[in-house]
Amino acid sequence: MRKNFLPFSRPSITEEDISAVGEVLRSGWITTGPNAAAFERDFSEYVGCPHAVALGSASAGMHLILKALNIGPGDEVITPSMTWVSTVNLIVLAGAVPVFADIHRDTLMVTPETIAPCFSPRTRAVIPVHFAGASADITALKGLADQKGVPLVEDAAHALGTHHGGGHVGATGTSIFSFHPIKNITTGEGGMFCTDDDEMAERIGRLKFHGLGVDAYDRQTQGRSPQAQVLEPGYKYNMTDMAAVLGLRQLHRLNQFNRKRNQLAARYLEWLANMDELLPLAIPENTTQHAWHLFMVRLDTDRAGISRDEFMEGLKARNIGTGLHFRAVHLQKYYRESMGMEKGALPHTEWNSDRICSLPLFPDMTFEDVDSVVEAVKEILSH
Ligand SMILES: *Cc1c(COP(=O)(O)O)cnc(C)c1O
Repeated sequence: MRKNFLPFSRPSITEEDISAVGEVLRSGWITTGPNAAAFERDFSEYVGCPHAVALGSASAGMHLILKALNIGPGDEVITPSMTWVSTVNLIVLAGAVPVFADIHRDTLMVTPETIAPCFSPRTRAVIPVHFAGASADITALKGLADQKGVPLVEDAAHALGTHHGGGHVGATGTSIFSFHPIKNITTGEGGMFCTDDDEMAERIGRLKFHGLGVDAYDRQTQGRSPQAQVLEPGYKYNMTDMAAVLGLRQLHRLNQFNRKRNQLAARYLEWLANMDELLPLAIPENTTQHAWHLFMVRLDTDRAGISRDEFMEGLKARNIGTGLHFRAVHLQKYYRESMGMEKGALPHTEWNSDRICSLPLFPDMTFEDVDSVVEAVKEILSH
């Protein structure tokens, strides 16, 4: 058994990263400034998207998008229940109704077939999620959304480094990325809004900072009046330079991070091929480059004779951390009670919600760490 605890994720931070944040602190300009501008520039170049706006979180980005699309009472938004709670919470907080689409059982992503029955005359947006580092079939989903005249917004929180037929995820259309500490790069907390729509970019740039259209740094460097006026009420969602300098440095290491994630995932997949109790996710054909944000398995609870929660407990007792991405949103207390959805409404979502588990995967992990996870899993399943 392992002597030390292996977390399921840990950010890769170097001494140079720490010094760079220290330099920003000593510079006299710690909020949105030159580092945020440089991070936006390099990010937009990396993704291949004309506009990138750095924010306090991906959730902040989603909030601004819902606002920019004027989504409110009487409106419906189609999104999976197999997702992080943030998008669904924001839809509800906007006064709109989330309409949950079921997912493909083995990719955990919505498909044209699962979203088709969710459209109504009230539908105002479709928000698919790119899951675990693979790409959703955006070409097909966008085709259907266009046909219905409804905007599509991509939750790309897991998809930094993910490529599909059209290049990097988020190169076209409107998307959000997250820099929470478990994501492929981190800024502590942070997110990036990306779009190829000039008007949308301008609106988000304004809404992120009180509706002023310029942030403090723009006002200073571009000589605009410090008395810049409110064009519409906005929020306070800008990214600090302390966070941005970290993001900039992490972005430059992203390809290296993802190469290691790929190698670790390959090692997991190799032994999984001989383990009937654990099913990996399927990799969709349209994913030409996988970012391996998460390494997820589904426990065949009948074959294993234990529940997923017992499986996770067993790993914890053997000094191995795991994650759960995600517990279906529609079965969480508030949504169960307010939407009255019964178990059975979204069969593939529910089947996975009871069986998924994320095993440790992060760039600084070693191949021996993978082997120690395998050992522990074998031991648990042999009992
Ligand atoms: C992490 C995550 C988010 C939210 O990102 P934050 O930066 O924490 O707001 C949104 N959607 C998915 C699928 C995520 O995993």
